[in-house]
Amino acid sequence: MSDKNSPSNPIAVYGSLLYFTADPMTHGEKACHHHSKGMLLIENGRITYVGSRSMGPKPPLGSTIFDYGEKLILPGFVDTHLHPPQHGVIASNSTELLHWLDTYTFPEEARFSDPAHCEKAAKAFFDELLTHGTTTLLAMATVHSSSAEALFKEAHRRNIRLITGKTLMDRNAPDYLTDTPQSAYDESLSLIRKWHGKGRLAYGVTPRFAVSSTREQLEACGALLQKSPGIYLHTHLSENHQEIKTVKELFPEAKDYLDVYDRYGLVKERSIFAHAIHLSEPEFARLKESRAAISFCPSSNLFLGSGLFRLKKAREYDIPVGLGSDIGGGTSFSPFHTMAEGFKVCQLLKEPISAMGTFYLATLGGAISLGLEKEVGTFAPGLEGDFVVIDPKTTPLSAMRTDRCKSIEELLFVLMILGDERFVSATHVMGEQVMTKRPF
Ligand SMILES: [Zn+2]
Repeated sequence: MSDKNSPSNPIAVYGSLLYFTADPMTHGEKACHHHSKGMLLIENGRITYVGSRSMGPKPPLGSTIFDYGEKLILPGFVDTHLHPPQHGVIASNSTELLHWLDTYTFPEEARFSDPAHCEKAAKAFFDELLTHGTTTLLAMATVHSSSAEALFKEAHRRNIRLITGKTLMDRNAPDYLTDTPQSAYDESLSLIRKWHGKGRLAYGVTPRFAVSSTREQLEACGALLQKSPGIYLHTHLSENHQEIKTVKELFPEAKDYLDVYDRYGLVKERSIFAHAIHLSEPEFARLKESRAAISFCPSSNLFLGSGLFRLKKAREYDIPVGLGSDIGGGTSFSPFHTMAEGFKVCQLLKEPISAMGTFYLATLGGAISLGLEKEVGTFAPGLEGDFVVIDPKTTPLSAMRTDRCKSIEELLFVLMILGDERFVSATHVMGEQVMTKRPF
Protein backbone atom coordinates (compact mmCIF):
# COMPACT_ATOMS: atom_id res chain seq x y z
CA MET A 1 0.00 0.00 0.00
CA SER A 2 1.23 3.44 -0.78
CA ASP A 3 -0.28 6.70 0.27
CA LYS A 4 2.43 8.56 -1.57
CA ASN A 5 0.16 11.21 -2.99
CA SER A 6 -2.55 11.16 -0.34
CA PRO A 7 -3.21 14.50 1.22
CA SER A 8 -1.83 14.86 4.69
CA ASN A 9 -4.90 16.72 5.94
CA PRO A 10 -8.04 14.80 6.81
CA ILE A 11 -10.85 15.51 4.35
CA ALA A 12 -14.55 16.06 4.99
CA VAL A 13 -16.95 15.86 2.06
CA TYR A 14 -20.58 17.02 2.23
CA GLY A 15 -23.19 16.12 -0.36
CA SER A 16 -25.88 13.65 -1.36
CA LEU A 17 -24.16 10.27 -1.00
CA LEU A 18 -25.30 7.34 -3.12
CA TYR A 19 -23.68 3.90 -3.22
CA PHE A 20 -24.39 0.18 -3.34
CA THR A 21 -23.44 -2.50 -0.84
CA ALA A 22 -24.87 -5.38 -2.90
CA ASP A 23 -26.38 -6.06 -6.30
CA PRO A 24 -29.77 -4.29 -6.59
CA MET A 25 -30.79 -6.74 -9.31
CA THR A 26 -30.84 -9.54 -6.71
CA HIS A 27 -31.14 -7.65 -3.42
CA GLY A 28 -33.60 -4.97 -4.50
CA GLU A 29 -33.51 -1.31 -3.52
CA LYS A 30 -32.10 -2.02 -0.06
CA ALA A 31 -28.76 -2.60 -1.80
CA CYS A 32 -28.75 1.14 -2.61
CA HIS A 33 -27.84 3.57 0.14
CA HIS A 34 -28.65 7.24 -0.01
CA HIS A 35 -27.87 10.00 2.48
CA SER A 36 -29.26 13.26 1.08
CA LYS A 37 -27.31 15.28 3.65
CA GLY A 38 -24.38 12.95 3.84
CA MET A 39 -20.77 13.13 4.87
CA LEU A 40 -17.62 11.24 3.98
CA LEU A 41 -14.55 11.57 6.18
CA ILE A 42 -11.26 10.52 4.66
CA GLU A 43 -7.89 10.22 6.36
CA ASN A 44 -4.67 9.17 4.66
CA GLY A 45 -6.70 8.48 1.52
CA ARG A 46 -9.09 6.04 3.22
CA ILE A 47 -12.68 6.47 4.34
CA THR A 48 -13.16 6.71 8.10
CA TYR A 49 -16.85 7.66 8.13
CA VAL A 50 -19.74 7.43 5.69
CA GLY A 51 -23.31 8.35 6.55
CA SER A 52 -25.54 11.16 7.63
CA ARG A 53 -23.78 14.42 8.40
CA SER A 54 -25.92 15.21 11.43
CA MET A 55 -25.38 11.76 13.00
CA GLY A 56 -21.65 11.64 12.26
CA PRO A 57 -18.62 12.83 14.20
CA LYS A 58 -17.17 16.30 13.79
CA PRO A 59 -14.46 16.38 11.12
CA PRO A 60 -11.02 16.29 12.76
CA LEU A 61 -9.37 19.65 13.40
CA GLY A 62 -7.57 20.96 10.35
CA SER A 63 -9.75 19.00 7.89
CA THR A 64 -10.06 20.26 4.33
CA ILE A 65 -13.78 20.67 3.66
CA PHE A 66 -15.43 20.03 0.29
CA ASP A 67 -19.06 21.12 0.47
CA TYR A 68 -20.85 19.89 -2.65
CA GLY A 69 -24.31 20.96 -1.44
CA GLU A 70 -27.06 18.89 -3.03
CA LYS A 71 -24.87 17.30 -5.67
CA LEU A 72 -24.66 13.53 -5.83
CA ILE A 73 -21.51 11.83 -4.62
CA LEU A 74 -20.91 8.32 -5.96
CA PRO A 75 -17.92 5.98 -5.72
CA GLY A 76 -15.51 6.63 -8.61
CA PHE A 77 -16.52 4.74 -11.75
CA VAL A 78 -14.78 1.46 -12.64
CA ASP A 79 -13.97 0.78 -16.32
CA THR A 80 -13.17 -2.90 -16.72
CA HIS A 81 -11.97 -2.88 -20.32
CA LEU A 82 -10.44 -0.22 -22.52
CA HIS A 83 -7.44 0.52 -24.71
CA PRO A 84 -5.78 3.83 -23.80
CA PRO A 85 -3.63 3.80 -26.98
CA GLN A 86 -6.83 3.82 -29.05
CA HIS A 87 -7.85 7.19 -27.60
CA GLY A 88 -6.85 8.71 -30.96
CA VAL A 89 -9.00 6.43 -33.17
CA ILE A 90 -12.30 6.70 -31.35
CA ALA A 91 -15.11 7.37 -33.83
CA SER A 92 -13.45 5.65 -36.81
CA ASN A 93 -16.00 4.03 -39.08
CA SER A 94 -15.81 0.33 -39.89
CA THR A 95 -18.04 -2.59 -40.79
CA GLU A 96 -16.63 -5.01 -38.21
CA LEU A 97 -13.87 -5.84 -35.73
CA LEU A 98 -11.13 -7.39 -37.88
CA HIS A 99 -11.40 -4.66 -40.54
CA TRP A 100 -11.40 -1.99 -37.81
CA LEU A 101 -8.22 -3.42 -36.27
CA ASP A 102 -6.36 -3.53 -39.59
CA THR A 103 -7.50 -0.15 -40.84
CA TYR A 104 -7.30 2.10 -37.81
CA THR A 105 -6.09 0.39 -34.68
CA PHE A 106 -2.87 -1.28 -35.70
CA PRO A 107 -1.43 1.78 -37.49
CA GLU A 108 -2.33 3.91 -34.45
CA GLU A 109 -0.76 1.44 -32.03
CA ALA A 110 2.46 1.53 -34.07
CA ARG A 111 3.00 5.10 -32.87
CA PHE A 112 3.60 3.75 -29.35
CA SER A 113 7.03 2.39 -30.25
CA ASP A 114 8.18 5.91 -29.37
CA PRO A 115 8.41 6.36 -25.56
CA ALA A 116 7.95 10.14 -25.88
CA HIS A 117 4.64 9.57 -27.68
CA CYS A 118 3.62 7.06 -24.98
CA GLU A 119 4.19 9.60 -22.22
CA LYS A 120 2.33 12.38 -23.96
CA ALA A 121 -0.58 10.06 -24.82
CA ALA A 122 -0.78 8.70 -21.24
CA LYS A 123 -1.14 12.22 -19.84
CA ALA A 124 -3.91 13.13 -22.29
CA PHE A 125 -5.62 9.81 -21.64
CA PHE A 126 -5.77 10.19 -17.85
CA ASP A 127 -6.95 13.80 -18.16
CA GLU A 128 -9.85 12.56 -20.28
CA LEU A 129 -10.61 9.66 -17.95
CA LEU A 130 -10.85 11.84 -14.84
CA THR A 131 -13.06 14.33 -16.66
CA HIS A 132 -15.54 11.48 -16.99
CA GLY A 133 -15.27 10.39 -13.35
CA THR A 134 -13.50 7.06 -13.91
CA THR A 135 -10.97 6.29 -11.18
CA THR A 136 -10.27 2.54 -11.53
CA LEU A 137 -9.47 0.80 -14.79
CA LEU A 138 -8.34 -2.39 -16.45
CA ALA A 139 -6.55 -1.33 -19.61
CA MET A 140 -4.68 -2.83 -22.55
CA ALA A 141 -1.43 -1.16 -23.57
CA THR A 142 0.15 -1.85 -26.97
CA VAL A 143 2.73 -4.53 -27.74
CA HIS A 144 5.44 -2.08 -26.72
CA SER A 145 6.73 -2.18 -23.14
CA SER A 146 7.04 1.59 -23.35
CA SER A 147 3.27 1.89 -23.67
CA ALA A 148 2.57 -0.07 -20.45
CA GLU A 149 5.47 1.69 -18.75
CA ALA A 150 4.05 5.16 -19.52
CA LEU A 151 0.56 4.20 -18.30
CA PHE A 152 1.95 2.81 -15.03
CA LYS A 153 4.13 5.85 -14.52
CA GLU A 154 1.35 8.35 -15.12
CA ALA A 155 -1.21 6.43 -13.02
CA HIS A 156 1.31 6.21 -10.18
CA ARG A 157 2.02 9.92 -10.37
CA ARG A 158 -1.72 10.61 -10.07
CA ASN A 159 -2.31 7.77 -7.57
CA ILE A 160 -4.93 6.14 -9.83
CA ARG A 161 -5.88 2.48 -9.43
CA LEU A 162 -4.73 0.88 -12.68
CA ILE A 163 -4.33 -2.68 -13.93
CA THR A 164 -2.58 -2.92 -17.27
CA GLY A 165 0.02 -4.86 -19.20
CA LYS A 166 1.93 -4.99 -22.42
CA THR A 167 -0.19 -6.63 -25.13
CA LEU A 168 1.14 -9.89 -26.53
CA MET A 169 0.82 -10.69 -30.25
CA ASP A 170 3.10 -13.03 -32.16
CA ARG A 171 0.98 -13.70 -35.25
CA ASN A 172 -1.84 -12.36 -37.39
CA ALA A 173 -0.80 -8.78 -36.79
CA PRO A 174 1.50 -6.49 -38.78
CA ASP A 175 5.22 -7.25 -38.35
CA TYR A 176 5.76 -3.88 -36.71
CA LEU A 177 3.40 -4.90 -33.89
CA THR A 178 4.48 -8.44 -33.14
CA ASP A 179 6.66 -9.89 -30.41
CA THR A 180 7.73 -13.51 -29.79
CA PRO A 181 6.83 -15.94 -27.00
CA GLN A 182 10.23 -15.30 -25.42
CA SER A 183 10.25 -11.51 -25.70
CA ALA A 184 6.62 -11.43 -24.50
CA TYR A 185 7.61 -13.43 -21.44
CA ASP A 186 10.77 -11.45 -20.69
CA GLU A 187 9.25 -8.01 -21.17
CA SER A 188 6.11 -8.89 -19.19
CA LEU A 189 8.18 -10.28 -16.34
CA SER A 190 10.31 -7.21 -16.18
CA LEU A 191 7.20 -4.97 -16.08
CA ILE A 192 5.64 -7.20 -13.39
CA ARG A 193 8.75 -6.89 -11.24
CA LYS A 194 8.86 -3.16 -11.65
CA TRP A 195 5.18 -2.24 -11.26
CA HIS A 196 2.96 -4.98 -9.85
CA GLY A 197 1.87 -4.09 -6.31
CA LYS A 198 3.50 -0.68 -6.43
CA GLY A 199 1.03 1.77 -4.86
CA ARG A 200 -2.33 1.21 -6.51
CA LEU A 201 -0.96 -0.57 -9.58
CA ALA A 202 -1.35 -4.19 -10.64
CA TYR A 203 -0.20 -6.16 -13.65
CA GLY A 204 -2.41 -7.94 -16.18
CA VAL A 205 -0.91 -10.50 -18.56
CA THR A 206 -2.49 -9.40 -21.83
CA PRO A 207 -2.62 -11.67 -24.87
CA ARG A 208 -4.72 -9.56 -27.25
CA PHE A 209 -6.91 -12.50 -28.27
CA ALA A 210 -6.48 -16.12 -29.33
CA VAL A 211 -6.21 -15.11 -32.99
CA SER A 212 -2.98 -13.19 -32.44
CA SER A 213 -1.11 -15.53 -30.09
CA THR A 214 0.51 -18.87 -30.93
CA ARG A 215 0.28 -21.85 -28.59
CA GLU A 216 3.83 -21.08 -27.43
CA GLN A 217 2.87 -17.55 -26.51
CA LEU A 218 -0.24 -18.66 -24.61
CA GLU A 219 1.99 -21.13 -22.79
CA ALA A 220 4.28 -18.23 -21.84
CA CYS A 221 1.19 -16.40 -20.45
CA GLY A 222 0.40 -19.41 -18.28
CA ALA A 223 3.99 -19.48 -17.03
CA LEU A 224 3.82 -15.79 -16.08
CA LEU A 225 0.59 -16.37 -14.12
CA GLN A 226 2.18 -19.31 -12.31
CA LYS A 227 5.25 -17.34 -11.45
CA SER A 228 3.52 -14.24 -10.08
CA PRO A 229 0.44 -15.02 -8.01
CA GLY A 230 -1.95 -12.09 -7.74
CA ILE A 231 -1.47 -10.80 -11.26
CA TYR A 232 -4.40 -10.63 -13.66
CA LEU A 233 -5.17 -12.14 -17.04
CA HIS A 234 -6.88 -9.74 -19.44
CA THR A 235 -7.98 -10.63 -22.95
CA HIS A 236 -10.87 -10.69 -25.44
CA LEU A 237 -13.31 -13.56 -25.85
CA SER A 238 -15.99 -14.39 -28.38
CA GLU A 239 -16.66 -10.91 -29.70
CA ASN A 240 -17.45 -11.56 -33.34
CA HIS A 241 -18.51 -14.53 -35.51
CA GLN A 242 -15.60 -14.18 -37.95
CA GLU A 243 -13.17 -14.07 -35.03
CA ILE A 244 -14.72 -17.20 -33.49
CA LYS A 245 -14.45 -19.03 -36.84
CA THR A 246 -10.78 -18.04 -37.13
CA VAL A 247 -10.08 -19.26 -33.59
CA LYS A 248 -11.67 -22.62 -34.45
CA GLU A 249 -9.40 -22.95 -37.49
CA LEU A 250 -6.29 -21.95 -35.55
CA PHE A 251 -6.99 -24.23 -32.57
CA PRO A 252 -8.89 -27.27 -33.90
CA GLU A 253 -7.93 -29.20 -30.76
CA ALA A 254 -9.93 -26.83 -28.47
CA LYS A 255 -13.52 -27.62 -27.45
CA ASP A 256 -14.55 -23.98 -27.82
CA TYR A 257 -13.06 -20.47 -27.73
CA LEU A 258 -12.73 -20.35 -23.95
CA ASP A 259 -11.01 -23.73 -23.97
CA VAL A 260 -8.16 -22.25 -26.02
CA TYR A 261 -7.29 -20.08 -23.01
CA ASP A 262 -8.16 -22.81 -20.52
CA ARG A 263 -5.64 -25.23 -22.01
CA TYR A 264 -2.88 -22.85 -20.95
CA GLY A 265 -4.13 -22.14 -17.42
CA LEU A 266 -5.54 -18.72 -18.29
CA VAL A 267 -9.11 -19.21 -17.03
CA LYS A 268 -9.18 -18.53 -13.31
CA GLU A 269 -10.03 -16.01 -10.64
CA ARG A 270 -8.65 -12.61 -11.70
CA SER A 271 -9.07 -13.46 -15.39
CA ILE A 272 -11.19 -10.85 -17.13
CA PHE A 273 -12.65 -11.59 -20.55
CA ALA A 274 -13.93 -8.67 -22.59
CA HIS A 275 -17.14 -9.08 -24.62
CA ALA A 276 -18.04 -12.80 -24.24
CA ILE A 277 -21.03 -12.24 -26.51
CA HIS A 278 -21.48 -15.54 -28.31
CA LEU A 279 -20.78 -18.04 -25.52
CA SER A 280 -22.07 -21.59 -25.38
CA GLU A 281 -23.59 -23.09 -22.22
CA PRO A 282 -20.37 -25.02 -21.44
CA GLU A 283 -18.39 -21.78 -21.73
CA PHE A 284 -20.73 -20.00 -19.29
CA ALA A 285 -20.46 -22.98 -16.93
CA ARG A 286 -16.68 -23.00 -17.11
CA LEU A 287 -16.47 -19.26 -16.43
CA LYS A 288 -18.64 -19.72 -13.35
CA GLU A 289 -16.60 -22.67 -12.11
CA SER A 290 -13.30 -20.86 -12.62
CA ARG A 291 -14.54 -17.61 -10.97
CA ALA A 292 -13.36 -15.59 -13.94
CA ALA A 293 -15.16 -12.36 -14.85
CA ILE A 294 -16.64 -10.71 -17.94
CA SER A 295 -16.40 -7.11 -19.11
CA PHE A 296 -19.64 -6.03 -20.82
CA CYS A 297 -18.78 -3.43 -23.49
CA PRO A 298 -22.14 -2.40 -24.97
CA SER A 299 -21.16 0.72 -26.92
CA SER A 300 -18.34 -1.09 -28.66
CA ASN A 301 -20.49 -4.17 -29.32
CA LEU A 302 -23.17 -2.02 -30.96
CA PHE A 303 -20.68 0.20 -32.82
CA LEU A 304 -18.83 -2.74 -34.39
CA GLY A 305 -22.04 -4.72 -34.88
CA SER A 306 -20.59 -7.55 -32.80
CA GLY A 307 -23.77 -8.64 -31.04
CA LEU A 308 -25.81 -8.42 -27.86
CA PHE A 309 -24.19 -9.59 -24.62
CA ARG A 310 -26.54 -11.72 -22.54
CA LEU A 311 -26.21 -10.11 -19.15
CA LYS A 312 -29.15 -12.06 -17.74
CA LYS A 313 -27.57 -15.34 -18.71
CA ALA A 314 -24.22 -14.36 -17.14
CA ARG A 315 -26.08 -13.35 -14.00
CA GLU A 316 -27.93 -16.68 -13.91
CA TYR A 317 -24.51 -18.33 -13.90
CA ASP A 318 -23.40 -15.92 -11.18
CA ILE A 319 -20.43 -14.73 -13.23
CA PRO A 320 -19.08 -11.35 -12.06
CA VAL A 321 -19.69 -8.68 -14.71
CA GLY A 322 -18.38 -5.11 -14.95
CA LEU A 323 -18.83 -2.45 -17.63
CA GLY A 324 -16.16 -1.56 -20.17
CA SER A 325 -16.04 1.50 -22.40
CA ASP A 326 -13.70 -0.43 -24.74
CA ILE A 327 -12.22 2.80 -26.08
CA GLY A 328 -11.61 3.08 -29.03
CA GLY A 329 -14.09 0.45 -30.35
CA GLY A 330 -16.40 1.97 -27.75
CA THR A 331 -17.90 5.33 -28.56
CA SER A 332 -17.45 7.32 -25.35
CA PHE A 333 -15.34 7.54 -22.22
CA SER A 334 -18.51 8.37 -20.32
CA PRO A 335 -19.83 5.71 -17.94
CA PHE A 336 -23.28 7.31 -18.38
CA HIS A 337 -23.09 6.55 -22.09
CA THR A 338 -21.86 2.98 -21.47
CA MET A 339 -24.69 2.42 -18.97
CA ALA A 340 -27.30 3.77 -21.39
CA GLU A 341 -26.01 1.54 -24.20
CA GLY A 342 -26.03 -1.43 -21.80
CA PHE A 343 -29.63 -0.62 -20.94
CA LYS A 344 -30.53 -0.61 -24.65
CA VAL A 345 -28.81 -3.96 -25.27
CA CYS A 346 -30.92 -5.44 -22.45
CA GLN A 347 -34.04 -3.86 -23.98
CA LEU A 348 -33.31 -5.47 -27.36
CA LEU A 349 -32.99 -8.84 -25.63
CA LYS A 350 -36.27 -8.20 -23.75
CA GLU A 351 -34.34 -8.66 -20.52
CA PRO A 352 -34.63 -5.21 -18.96
CA ILE A 353 -32.20 -3.81 -16.42
CA SER A 354 -32.93 -1.06 -13.90
CA ALA A 355 -30.93 2.16 -13.69
CA MET A 356 -29.76 1.03 -10.26
CA GLY A 357 -28.54 -2.15 -11.93
CA THR A 358 -26.42 -0.21 -14.44
CA PHE A 359 -24.97 2.13 -11.78
CA TYR A 360 -24.12 -0.93 -9.71
CA LEU A 361 -22.25 -2.44 -12.68
CA ALA A 362 -20.35 0.84 -13.18
CA THR A 363 -19.24 0.94 -9.52
CA LEU A 364 -19.36 -2.00 -7.11
CA GLY A 365 -20.11 -4.63 -9.78
CA GLY A 366 -17.00 -3.55 -11.69
CA ALA A 367 -14.92 -3.58 -8.52
CA ILE A 368 -16.11 -7.11 -7.66
CA SER A 369 -15.30 -8.33 -11.17
CA LEU A 370 -11.73 -7.11 -10.61
CA GLY A 371 -11.55 -8.53 -7.06
CA LEU A 372 -11.19 -4.98 -5.73
CA GLU A 373 -14.37 -4.61 -3.67
CA LYS A 374 -12.35 -4.30 -0.46
CA GLU A 375 -10.66 -1.23 -1.96
CA VAL A 376 -13.06 0.64 -4.26
CA GLY A 377 -16.55 0.61 -5.80
CA THR A 378 -18.53 1.53 -2.68
CA PHE A 379 -18.24 3.63 0.47
CA ALA A 380 -17.29 1.97 3.75
CA PRO A 381 -14.73 2.68 6.45
CA GLY A 382 -11.32 1.39 5.38
CA LEU A 383 -11.97 1.67 1.64
CA GLU A 384 -10.04 4.03 -0.60
CA GLY A 385 -11.64 7.46 -0.92
CA ASP A 386 -12.25 7.59 -4.68
CA PHE A 387 -15.45 9.41 -5.60
CA VAL A 388 -17.18 11.41 -8.29
CA VAL A 389 -19.40 14.48 -7.85
CA ILE A 390 -22.41 14.62 -10.17
CA ASP A 391 -24.70 17.57 -10.77
CA PRO A 392 -28.14 16.32 -11.89
CA LYS A 393 -29.09 19.89 -12.83
CA THR A 394 -26.24 20.45 -15.26
CA THR A 395 -28.45 21.33 -18.22
CA PRO A 396 -31.85 23.05 -18.35
CA LEU A 397 -33.32 19.80 -19.68
CA SER A 398 -31.84 17.67 -16.89
CA ALA A 399 -32.86 20.27 -14.28
CA MET A 400 -36.45 20.20 -15.53
CA ARG A 401 -36.51 16.43 -15.74
CA THR A 402 -34.83 15.64 -12.41
CA ASP A 403 -37.12 18.10 -10.61
CA ARG A 404 -39.96 15.74 -11.47
CA CYS A 405 -38.20 12.61 -10.17
CA LYS A 406 -39.96 10.90 -7.31
CA SER A 407 -37.45 8.19 -6.49
CA ILE A 408 -33.73 7.42 -6.61
CA GLU A 409 -34.35 4.89 -9.36
CA GLU A 410 -36.01 7.56 -11.49
CA LEU A 411 -33.22 10.05 -10.81
CA LEU A 412 -30.56 7.49 -11.78
CA PHE A 413 -32.54 6.61 -14.89
CA VAL A 414 -32.59 10.23 -16.05
CA LEU A 415 -28.86 10.56 -15.36
CA MET A 416 -28.11 7.33 -17.23
CA ILE A 417 -29.98 8.56 -20.32
CA LEU A 418 -29.15 12.29 -20.29
CA GLY A 419 -25.80 12.26 -18.47
CA ASP A 420 -22.33 12.80 -19.90
CA GLU A 421 -19.05 14.33 -18.77
CA ARG A 422 -20.66 17.75 -18.33
CA PHE A 423 -22.51 16.25 -15.35
CA VAL A 424 -19.25 15.37 -13.58
CA SER A 425 -18.45 18.40 -11.44
CA ALA A 426 -15.38 16.94 -9.73
CA THR A 427 -13.40 13.74 -9.35
CA HIS A 428 -11.46 12.76 -6.24
CA VAL A 429 -8.78 10.08 -5.90
CA MET A 430 -7.86 8.87 -2.39
CA GLY A 431 -9.69 11.95 -1.11
CA GLU A 432 -7.71 14.39 -3.20
CA GLN A 433 -9.57 16.54 -5.74
CA VAL A 434 -7.91 15.69 -9.05
CA MET A 435 -10.45 17.21 -11.45
CA THR A 436 -12.92 20.02 -11.03
CA LYS A 437 -14.75 22.15 -13.54
CA ARG A 438 -15.98 24.91 -11.29
CA PRO A 439 -14.74 26.52 -8.11
CA PHE A 440 -16.36 25.12 -4.99
ZN1 LIG B 1 -11.03 -4.38 -26.45
